[in-house]
Amino acid sequence: MNAEIISIGTELLLGQILNTNAQYLSKSLASIGINVYYRTEVGDNQKRLKSVFETALKRSDLIITTGGLGPTEDDLTKETIADVLGLELEEDFEALQSIKNYFEKIKVKMTNNNKKQALIPKGSIALPNRQGTAPGVLIEKNNKTVFMLPGPPNEMMAMYKEHVEPYLIKRGQGIIKSKVLKFIGIGESSLEEKIKDLLRSDNPTLAPLAGRGEVSLRITAKGTEAKKVEEKISNMEKLIRARVGKYVYGVDDETLEECVGKILVDKNQTISIAESCTGGLIADKLTNVPGISKVFDRCIVTYSNKSKIEELGVPPEILNSFGAVSKETATAMAEGIRKVSGSKLGLAVTGIAGPSGATPDKPVGLVYVALSTPENTICKNYVFNGRREIIKNRAALTALNMLRKYLINLP
Ligand code: ATP
Repeated sequence: MNAEIISIGTELLLGQILNTNAQYLSKSLASIGINVYYRTEVGDNQKRLKSVFETALKRSDLIITTGGLGPTEDDLTKETIADVLGLELEEDFEALQSIKNYFEKIKVKMTNNNKKQALIPKGSIALPNRQGTAPGVLIEKNNKTVFMLPGPPNEMMAMYKEHVEPYLIKRGQGIIKSKVLKFIGIGESSLEEKIKDLLRSDNPTLAPLAGRGEVSLRITAKGTEAKKVEEKISNMEKLIRARVGKYVYGVDDETLEECVGKILVDKNQTISIAESCTGGLIADKLTNVPGISKVFDRCIVTYSNKSKIEELGVPPEILNSFGAVSKETATAMAEGIRKVSGSKLGLAVTGIAGPSGATPDKPVGLVYVALSTPENTICKNYVFNGRREIIKNRAALTALNMLRKYLINLP
């Protein structure tokens, strides 16, 4: 199936906005094996839109338009396309109802103009718009498929994911499968560097996804036989793991805390935590894991020096000589929590989450993570970039990762 994208809006031609809709659609269509052969931008002008659409009809099986579905005079997409296809516009009851509901919800009086948005070409299907008012439209005529999607990117993307993609996948009778590999301890750019050549593969495709201190890689393969599609994914996964497998902690929806929690429970390793700059975040994450009560004893948030001394027995001399954010303090905190709780493992974090608190030799983002075990105490320091919450999150994830590596004997 060959596709063509028509982006409608004078703002695009004036250079006032960037055509991110077309980029999104091109990428999304490519990922499900649909070739996009043409992309056109046209202003809010009926004559020119008509000519662009007529050309598209001659050369493409699937046409997706964005923009011009709104209530105003210059929103002409439906009128023009219906005209070219020889279809009349008629009111869609459900679309009108959902527009009414939308205005009731936001407590704004609906104008007659808005009613226009519920008009769709006869015989077409209205696609609900959960993010706004203008419904999308699906028309199937003479072996051509036309989707009209709204202009605002959030509305367009939601509608594409909810209605267009499932429709196209079903129609293509192809199979698409994805698997997400989740990484910790490696940044997005170093990961990309290490698998640069693999990123060029087009079936399966690889899409790096980064967010909140973690990096993921989605492998997506397509084909006609489920077994072959799975094989493509597993071959690619093997190639990736051969290069960067030590950073992979899980797959798909698995979280780092679930992975660590499961190993702790399986190995019956009890743990207690002492947190300073993370303020209880590690414990919060860990207690998201069902069944963790079997091994998780306690977490003490020891934010002040006083509490580090009182609750964990950190020697005041250590705090005075090396400071609260130091290898010595982190080590004493981990050993202290292990001792007071009687747990097999003691995990501790201390650091400077910023924006203030830095000294010439201790920058914002400096974090010490220590793990005390029956064998010894390991302590490592890191410097994380970002806002306070990001630094806290990275510190918590890094501490969980230290624990994971110890539990599975990774260096
Ligand atoms: P509405 O219901 O809001 O009137 P519409 O379907 O009529 O939506 P337009 O009026 O064409 O859409 O565009 C609304 C806004 O969406 C534009 O002002 C612009 O900010 C954004 N937009 C439109 N087309 C694109 C595009 N191709 N790429 C990125 N943003 C776009």
